[in-house]
Amino acid sequence: MVRLILVLGDQLSHDLSALQEAWPGDVVVMAEVADEAEYVPHHPKKLALIFAAMRHFADELRKLGRDVIYTRLDDPDNAGTIMGELLRRADETGAGEVIVTHPGEWRVIAALEEGPLPVRMLPDDRFLCSLQDFEAWAEGRREFRLEWFYREMRRKTGLMMEGDKPAGGKWNFDHDNRKRAAHDLFGPGPIRFAPDAVTREVMDLVAARFGDSFGDLHPFWFGVTRGEALRALDHFIAHALPGFGDVQDAMLTGDRFLNHSVLSIYLNIGLLSPLEVCQRVEAAWQAGDVPINAAEGFIRQVIGWREFVRGIYFREGPDYVTRNALGHDRALPAAFWGGETRMECLRAAVEQTREEAYAHHIQRLMVTGNFALLAGADPGAVHEWYLAVYADAFEWVEAPNTLGMSQFADGGVVGSKPYAASGNYINRMSDYCGSCAYDVKARPGPGACPLNPLYWHFIDRHRARFVGNPRMATVYRTWERMPEARRTAILAQGEAILRRLEAGEVV
Ligand SMILES: Cc1cc2nc3c(=O)[nH]c(=O)nc-3n(C[C@H](O)[C@H](O)[C@H](O)COP(=O)(O)OP(=O)(O)OC[C@H]3O[C@@H](n4cnc5c(N)ncnc54)[C@H](O)[C@@H]3O)c2cc1C
Ligand code: SF4
Repeated sequence: MVRLILVLGDQLSHDLSALQEAWPGDVVVMAEVADEAEYVPHHPKKLALIFAAMRHFADELRKLGRDVIYTRLDDPDNAGTIMGELLRRADETGAGEVIVTHPGEWRVIAALEEGPLPVRMLPDDRFLCSLQDFEAWAEGRREFRLEWFYREMRRKTGLMMEGDKPAGGKWNFDHDNRKRAAHDLFGPGPIRFAPDAVTREVMDLVAARFGDSFGDLHPFWFGVTRGEALRALDHFIAHALPGFGDVQDAMLTGDRFLNHSVLSIYLNIGLLSPLEVCQRVEAAWQAGDVPINAAEGFIRQVIGWREFVRGIYFREGPDYVTRNALGHDRALPAAFWGGETRMECLRAAVEQTREEAYAHHIQRLMVTGNFALLAGADPGAVHEWYLAVYADAFEWVEAPNTLGMSQFADGGVVGSKPYAASGNYINRMSDYCGSCAYDVKARPGPGACPLNPLYWHFIDRHRARFVGNPRMATVYRTWERMPEARRTAILAQGEAILRRLEAGEVV
C-alpha cells in the first residue's frame, strides 16, 4: 500500500528519518498551508525563507527520483492545514498511512495524532541527543544545568576531547569571551545570496499575502538550498569564527552581526546538520586556524544549548508555553512592533529585527527580553513575538529560550536565576547609550535610563521568590544597603514607568 511521507518546512534534510524510511511507490507530501503561515504573524522574510527552501528541496527530491506532491499556498484547492492536505493526498493516492519525522512543535504533533489518518512518527535523528537520552539524563536530577549536560554531550560526540579530558584542559573558555566590542570593529557579516527565479516567485506571493505583517521582505539575502547553506558555513569558518568567542556578548549599533554565524536559520530548517557544523569548527581549530575559546564557545552553543533546550521543551510538555511563574500580565509595549520609543537599545534591536528577521543572542536576551521582563509583560505575548519575528524561530528552540531563559516564566527550569539587568549592563556591553535620549548614569528623574528603576522595581517586587537564591544574594544586599529614601524614589520612578507603559505612552 502507498504511504505518504510528510516532509515539514523545517525538515529539509536529505537524510531525514522519514525519507530514509520511504519505499519505492511511496509519495512525498509537502505543503505550504495558511494554518502554519498565519498562526502567529510571521516576519515576511521568515515565510519567504521557508517556502523558498521547501520549493528548492522538493525540486531536489524530484531530481533524485522521488515522487513528490507539492501544494503551493496559492493552490485554489489548498486545504489550509497539514491534516487537510494529507487527507486530500490520501484520497488521490489511496495511501493508508502517513510517515513523518517527529515534528518540533507540540501543536503540530497533536494535529497529526488527533487526525483520522494513521500516523507513524520517527525519531528526529538530526539532533545529537535523542528525547530518550535526554530523559535518561534528566531523570532524578533536581535541577537541569547546561554545564553538566554539555559535558555529557562532549563525551558522547568526542568533539574537542583528548581521551576523556576536554581539549585545552577546560570544558569552558567563556571567561575569555566577555569582551566589549571596539567601536570601530566591523565583523565580516554573513554571506548574502541573490534570490533566484523560484525565490522571487515566493517573494511575490509573500508580499501579496503577508506584506502588511511586521518585517521587511527586501532585501532578501538568505540562502535557500543546502549548497548555499554550505557556502554560508564556509564563509563563517573562514571569516567570523576566529573572533567568535571574544565579542560574543557585545552589541554595536553599526554592526548587526559582529562575529555571529547566522547559521541558525539553516540549522533549524535542516539545510545544515549540527554535527557537520561542529566537526568543521573542530577541524578549523585542529588546523590552528581558530583559537580554542572560539571553537569551544561555538560548539557549546550547538551541542550544548541547542540540544538542551530541545530536551527541556519536549520533557516539559505542551503546557510549557502557557507558564507564567512570575504572574506578569502587561501588554507587550507597542515599541516591539515598531512603535515609537526613546530607548536607543530597544529601538536599535527592534529596527534590526524588522529589517533582518535576525538579532543575535545578547540582543534577544539582554535588550528585548530584559525589557519585557522588567516591564512585566505577559510571557505568552513575549513568546508569540519571538516566534513571529525571527527567521530561525521554531517552538522547540524559541519557547525555552523565551519563556525559560529570558522571562523566567517556567520558574527556573532552564535558568537558575532571571536574566534581569539594569542599564549599566547594556552600557558596558554596547555603544547604544551614547546616542540615547536617556542618561544611563543619571539618578532617578525624567531623563534617567528607565531600565535602572525598572530593574530595582523587578528585584523588589519579586523579593519573596529570589531573596533566598544564592546567585542573587549580592543584588539583594546592594538593594537593602541603599538609603531608604533612595529606594523609595527608585521604586516610585519604576512604578511611574510601568503606569506609563500600561497607558500606552512612549517610554
Ligand atoms: C529570547 C530568546 C529567543 C530565542 N529564540 C531562538 C529561536 O527562535 N531560534 C533559535 O535558533 N535560537 C533562538 N535563541 C537562541 C539564540 O539567540 C540564537 O540561536 C542565535 O542568536 C542565532 O544566531 P546565530 O546563528 O548567529 O548564533 P551564533 O551566536 O553564531 O551561535 C551559534 C549557534 O548556536 C546555537 N545557539 C546559540 N545559542 C543558543 C540557544 N540559547 N539556544 C539554542 N541554540 C543556540 C544556534 O544554533 C546558533 O546558530 C533565542 C534566544 C533568546 C534569548
Ligand atoms: S540609556 Fe538606558 S535606555 Fe538608553 S540605550 Fe542605554 S540602557 Fe538603553
